[in-house]
Amino acid sequence: MKISRIEHLGIAVQSIADALPYYTDVLGLEFYKEEVVEDQKVKTAFLKVGEVKIELLEPTSPDSTIQKFLDNGGRGIHHVAFKVEDGVANALAQCEEHGIRLIDKAPRCGADNLKIAFLHPKSTCGILTELCEE
Ligand code: ZN
Repeated sequence: MKISRIEHLGIAVQSIADALPYYTDVLGLEFYKEEVVEDQKVKTAFLKVGEVKIELLEPTSPDSTIQKFLDNGGRGIHHVAFKVEDGVANALAQCEEHGIRLIDKAPRCGADNLKIAFLHPKSTCGILTELCEE
């Protein structure tokens, strides 16, 4: 697979409204989009850091995986997303060949018009890893 860069960092927060002023007013980053992803039970907010984005993730339901992450003391970085140039489906096939545990067997639609798939942290040195393409 061909990874060109980190596409975004996913950061879990209990409240985007509470977290956003730090990123915009203190760090001076540009907030450009908010989007609810119903099937993942999250509200997302995107900020630009040059070519890379920060994706703030707020749970929209108590059974959201983000809520579970927060409840387990996991405030902060939730996942790292890599931009794949030669297709997420292709990258998944290669990961599977290497014995990597896949959370998504096939690419699906994510926030901000991306095709995404997650790799299980048990196979990726503890980091929930997202592969994505535009
Ligand atoms: Zn993400």
